[in-house]
Amino acid sequence: MAEKREVLVVGGGTAGWITAAYLARFFEGRVGVTLLESPEIGIIGVGEGAFPTIRNTLKFLGIDESHFIRAASATFKQGIRFDDWLHAPASDGTRHHYLHPFEAPFQAEASGLVPYWLLQDEATRAPFAEAVTIQNRVAEAQRAPKRSGEGDYAGPLNYAYHFDAARLAEVIAARAVELGVRHLAGRLTHVELAEDGSVAGVVTDAHGALAADLYIDCSGFRAELIGNALGVPLKSVKHLLFTDRALACKIPYDRPDAPIASFTIATAHAAGWTWDIGLQGARGIGCVWSSAHMSDEDAAAVLRDYVGHDAFAARMIPFEPGYREAQWVKNCVAVGLSGGFLEPLESTGVVLIEAAVAMIAELFPLGGPADAPAARFNQLIAARYESIINFLKLHYCLSRRSEPFWRDNADPASIPPALQALLGEWRRRPPSRFDFLLDLESFAFFNYQYILYGMEFRTDLSGSRGDFPAMAAAEKLFARIRGFGERATADLPSHRTLIRQINEGL
Ligand code: FAD
Repeated sequence: MAEKREVLVVGGGTAGWITAAYLARFFEGRVGVTLLESPEIGIIGVGEGAFPTIRNTLKFLGIDESHFIRAASATFKQGIRFDDWLHAPASDGTRHHYLHPFEAPFQAEASGLVPYWLLQDEATRAPFAEAVTIQNRVAEAQRAPKRSGEGDYAGPLNYAYHFDAARLAEVIAARAVELGVRHLAGRLTHVELAEDGSVAGVVTDAHGALAADLYIDCSGFRAELIGNALGVPLKSVKHLLFTDRALACKIPYDRPDAPIASFTIATAHAAGWTWDIGLQGARGIGCVWSSAHMSDEDAAAVLRDYVGHDAFAARMIPFEPGYREAQWVKNCVAVGLSGGFLEPLESTGVVLIEAAVAMIAELFPLGGPADAPAARFNQLIAARYESIINFLKLHYCLSRRSEPFWRDNADPASIPPALQALLGEWRRRPPSRFDFLLDLESFAFFNYQYILYGMEFRTDLSGSRGDFPAMAAAEKLFARIRGFGERATADLPSHRTLIRQINEGL
């Protein structure tokens, strides 16, 4: 029988603990998993928004949903509301907003309702997300996506969570140790390379030398193995996604029973956007901006204006948007911030960790050389980064705002050619599932539809009206969605009520 293979995960942030726990659960003892982390370096501790895929991950790890919500101070997230992205607020106070809900548009027939919405009178039709899903109504009414007792990770509407980032790592760490992960607190001080350029071992301050068959670099922006030791460069995408700084703070609610929003509020400003995330005891608020378009002082003023006072401490986090094209090199794989980071607009940090770890588990070289899956892994992960870049860019390039940051974003020279080609096609037809290679995508065609039509993008079907003869049936369906939405809003508990019930064990 082959010797048991050993994995060393370097880093104990969200990436390290998800990776270690996932591999321990996946291999059930057939692979040894050790995690080394330095408490004095600590974790980045930001990133409060998730994507619905996290439910599958937590469920797979065997973490009870109510326990997770209590321990990570989590709340439910039904999507993201984008305020002021199309236009800056008008002088009379009028503002534009739209929701990107997680629930897919209601689909009854093959072509769905989208073409019929496009053919409706623009002046009188409901906003896209409100017309095609009940989730818009439910979320706007501050209702929860489910009732208590509905079952772990299940409910009538799709959802993810908002959470305290440091506590998320702790919850997963506790589960990882239960699943058999060996936890070492200590600092990696040196990486030994073999003659062929692979990692021969790492030296630590508290545990001497450590060796493994596969090294997983989860050391965050420090990128101790993939960057410092192996010298793999980061490919910057700053020319496509301009934001490169964030200021983050926590603001208590005005009163203990204040409603908790069940969507992230992303409000555009002159050179970026702010996030506003409803956690259990406080709101996580942050400002993201492009340092080429706005000074740090002006960004701090944007955050102060948003919060409404300056009695808070904020933390500055500079970042370089980009990713390493080679993330699996010889016997080392990068997961999390060491592999790359794209700005947090659609909460893709954990999504990329989940994608990487699922591939590592399934492609793991149990018998052969440690780099056998490297080429495939690198191709798949790079494609995923590229598709997320396109999706993020879509939010910016459709804006009609006039500040330099927004004009630069609409400049075709800053829009990836693949996205430009799709936008050309979507002028004549809505996004389709055949526009994407599904296994590489984090976002589906309907996510693109929510952004496009929320931003008043025009798909002109007037020449093919005859291809959509079922308008009367579609109108009935739109009315049924309205009715279901009203009923669900009346039936579902308020978001704060559900969180209270979960905390009280009801
Ligand atoms: P870290 O949390 O930095 O962990 C690195 C670990 O490596 C730590 O344990 C550290 O101690 C250890 N380490 C480093 N060097 C050594 C050494 N020499 N020896 C031993 N140990 C070492 N993601 C989302 O999914 N949703 C969001 O809404 C979101 N928002 C974000 C907002 C901002 C402003 C930023 C910057 C990121 C955001 N992210 C978000 C991304 C998210 O924060 C990360 O993907 C996630 O936290 C994973 O980080 P990590 O584990 O890779 O790194």
